Amino acid sequence: MAQEYDLVVLGGGTGGYVAAIRASKLGLKTAIVEKRELGGTCLHRGCIPSKALLRSAEVFRQTKEADRFGVTTEAPTLNFAKVQERKQSVVDTLHKGVQGLMKKGKIDVYEGFGRILGPSIFSPTAGTISVEMNNGEENEMLIPKNVLVATGSSPKSLPGLEIDGEYVMTSDEALFMDELPESIVIVGGGVIGIEWASMLADFGVKVTVLEYLPHILPTEDQDISREMMKQMKSKGVEVVTNAKVLPDSLEKNNGISIKAEVEGETVSYQASRMLVSVGRSANVTNIGLENTDIQVENGFIQTNKFYQTKESHIYAIGDVIGGMQLAHVASHEGIIAVEHMADGSPHPMDPEQVPTCIYSNPEVASLGLTESAAKEKGFDIKVGKFPFKAIGKALVYGETEGFVKIIADKKTDDLLGVHMVGPHVTDMISEAGLAKVLDATPWEIAESIHPHPTLAEAIGEAAMAVDGNQIHG
Ligand SMILES: Cc1cc2nc3c(=O)[nH]c(=O)nc-3n(C[C@H](O)[C@H](O)[C@H](O)COP(=O)(O)OP(=O)(O)OC[C@H]3O[C@@H](n4cnc5c(N)ncnc54)[C@H](O)[C@@H]3O)c2cc1C
Repeated sequence: MAQEYDLVVLGGGTGGYVAAIRASKLGLKTAIVEKRELGGTCLHRGCIPSKALLRSAEVFRQTKEADRFGVTTEAPTLNFAKVQERKQSVVDTLHKGVQGLMKKGKIDVYEGFGRILGPSIFSPTAGTISVEMNNGEENEMLIPKNVLVATGSSPKSLPGLEIDGEYVMTSDEALFMDELPESIVIVGGGVIGIEWASMLADFGVKVTVLEYLPHILPTEDQDISREMMKQMKSKGVEVVTNAKVLPDSLEKNNGISIKAEVEGETVSYQASRMLVSVGRSANVTNIGLENTDIQVENGFIQTNKFYQTKESHIYAIGDVIGGMQLAHVASHEGIIAVEHMADGSPHPMDPEQVPTCIYSNPEVASLGLTESAAKEKGFDIKVGKFPFKAIGKALVYGETEGFVKIIADKKTDDLLGVHMVGPHVTDMISEAGLAKVLDATPWEIAESIHPHPTLAEAIGEAAMAVDGNQIHG
């Protein structure tokens, strides 16, 4: 018999399960359909497992460097099986947590593949959802008043670079490697490529990054991508920019060999493995969009600012709508969508208030406009930049690379962008996020007292530097 719901969420990733919890708190009778595991990409194949591996790489690197802190150890060795075990236990703990939250919120979870069928009598615009159950039982039919499509995304490859899971991997396969390769070619120097380059180099793998564009991390402020280029090179990572990979040249023979056109020359690269990190495509296939008026452009579902599709009772959020493909964006969008369908009046999300983080060593975190984007938009800008090497806590930590850069509007003093590279900046960017939401000027950021000694003093100094008033530089 068909079950009726106020909301059925298609996909139990970060966006979907957070939206379901908010819906249940708002009193909506809610169900989630999930074909794999609750928690989705972020928990099982993204944010959490990659950060657990990065943490092991950090401990390994720091142990090797212990001598400079006066701690003498034997040369550390790596037990990669144990690294993987620890990663999996972090994931499993959080997975249980999400399952518990579903029970607590009285959210029904259907384990299977969901598809939107035609309109139902109960809700002509939302449509019935059929669930092909993983356990082989008869399809479940769900009749919702609202649907939230949160089916996420999957890794892309380049035509010719077929993923075999052994020699040629995406991050999905790389996360489950049994042992570390001796060397690796990473195709794509974006966020995922650089996190992996940093992690594998810290584990002692010989890494080559091939990036098509003139800069790695091309969406970051140019000062940041230049600094990261320098930092990756100092780790021993070979970074080749302006490199057009020639997929047809791929050869596999106890390792891989691939050619790339680099500044007019064809160069050959050899390694034990290849990681392809060239972006992610939305999961829109086979979910019944053809039974609706939902529009898909460039592969992504189109919505308005409250995440309604062309069918007003079908909303879509997260990676499946493109934009900033980040877990905290997916969950924030999910909350806005659910509040909107429950007749609340949520604030639309402002992309310039969204922090983005890269968990490499050193870390990168940013928010708002880059210097070049601010200039392109016609702002007359002033810039304050302050290096970590002048911050006491950075010296105490022994991590002095990087800086904080703040961009403001000369005319109004409005904060336009904050960009950081250095130790623990992913934990520090939230100060900039709050400042942006509260419309704080750099002067107000500097007025808020930064305790000493902390790394966050670099934010206060950079804010003062916007008007040339920094103290320690
Ligand atoms: C290696 C890597 C590292 C990352 N690191 C970070 C990070 O540090 N910070 C960050 O913010 N973001 C990070 N991301 C991005 C982040 O994982 C995504 O932005 C986030 O998971 C998007 O959430 P979502 O809910 O839209 O989709 P997903 O998390 O992809 O969830 C979608 C869910 O829908 C399910 N599904 C799909 N189709 C159906 C169907 N028809 N029926 C039932 N279920 C279905 C899928 O099985 C999946 O569980 C990373 C991504 C990767 C790949």
